[in-house]
Amino acid sequence: MRVLVTGGAGFIGSNLVHYLLGGASAELGVGIDRVVNLDKLTYAGNRSSLAELENDPRHVFVQGDIGDAELVGSLLRDHEIDAVMHLAAESHVDRSIDNPEEFIMTNFVGTYRLLETFRRYLVETGRMIGHSHGKSLGDGSKSAFLHVSTDEVYGSLGPNDAAFCETTPYAPNSPYSASKAGSDHLARAYHHTYGMPVVTTNCSNNYGPYQFPEKLLPLMIRKTLRGESLPVYGDGSNVRDWLYVEDHCRGLAMALLRGKFGETYVIGGKCEMKNLDVVHGIIETVRELAPGRVTKTADELITFVKDRPGHDQRYAIDPTRIGKELGWAPLENFTSGLRKTVQWYLDNDEWIRTIEDGSYRGERLGTLS
Ligand code: NAD
Repeated sequence: MRVLVTGGAGFIGSNLVHYLLGGASAELGVGIDRVVNLDKLTYAGNRSSLAELENDPRHVFVQGDIGDAELVGSLLRDHEIDAVMHLAAESHVDRSIDNPEEFIMTNFVGTYRLLETFRRYLVETGRMIGHSHGKSLGDGSKSAFLHVSTDEVYGSLGPNDAAFCETTPYAPNSPYSASKAGSDHLARAYHHTYGMPVVTTNCSNNYGPYQFPEKLLPLMIRKTLRGESLPVYGDGSNVRDWLYVEDHCRGLAMALLRGKFGETYVIGGKCEMKNLDVVHGIIETVRELAPGRVTKTADELITFVKDRPGHDQRYAIDPTRIGKELGWAPLENFTSGLRKTVQWYLDNDEWIRTIEDGSYRGERLGTLS
């Protein structure tokens, strides 16, 4: 199988490319001959996350925009792509509040262009199989489009509300989640209108290796190690569901290979935690894995800061469907996943340093937080 991954130099995308060319064949019995990795290399894209694949002939990296129909069309044709896994996005909520336009252009307009270019390619190459509804890859179709989205499209839950599932109504609250919600609707419409073989996933908060240091876990790990104050929004009571990134990648591969076209699968770790508890967990894990390097107490490190505008109170996911229908379950719990994550950041200081000094893209970043 030949796969076009978009956003494969980002956090989840780079983990996915490693998984597709690594564990996926043994775990899922799929042979991947080629991964074409299309990434614009915005501030969030980092080629050094793919350094181990530099000499792997199965991995082809292309710097470019998902909205460039000419480029995408030629990649699809030249590499005879079977499946698209679409992760490219502007993804940081705080940045969407400061500058929403990039989010609309990439997440909404870019997704439209990618869907349309893939549709034309399927028609031109005779790969469109009539209406794909209810079929899956290998079951009448040699092509598929996996649209990767977020649980943030469902809005915010009260403390006693049932967790999000596939039928939860959309209620996005930030420019980020609104732009992702729009893209989900486009993916759905391309399936229903044109019969395109589309599967959508909506996942909770990921954590793990290669995450840009502005996001909660890498930010807090770094600041803990340096004895700097750890900024926590509001009173730290916002609740998120956490999933180790490789578990998400396995879920994405399963959704692509086994998911039914026209369907959505929510993915989550059944691991709801208050932000403040996550931060305490990080401090304690860093203290344990880096003995002697954490000299302050949690109370000395944590600083409560003004809450983010429109900050959703709680997200939770009920992943029953992907478990029952596709056989997916996370392999890590928060304790084991956090240990792996902290250890990875301790072992990969150089990866963080190149982001901090700007050398990963030839410039210096002012502030990461
Ligand atoms: P990220 O910001 O780390 O990476 C995004 C990548 O997309 C970057 O490499 C960037 O260069 C690239 N990109 C941005 N605009 C592009 C464009 N126009 N054309 C081509 N490439 C472009 O994001 P992430 O955290 O890895 O998230 C990946 C996907 O998963 C996103 O669609 C996001 O909405 C979704 N998601 C993320 C999480 C999470 O916890 N991080 C959870 C659920 C879903």
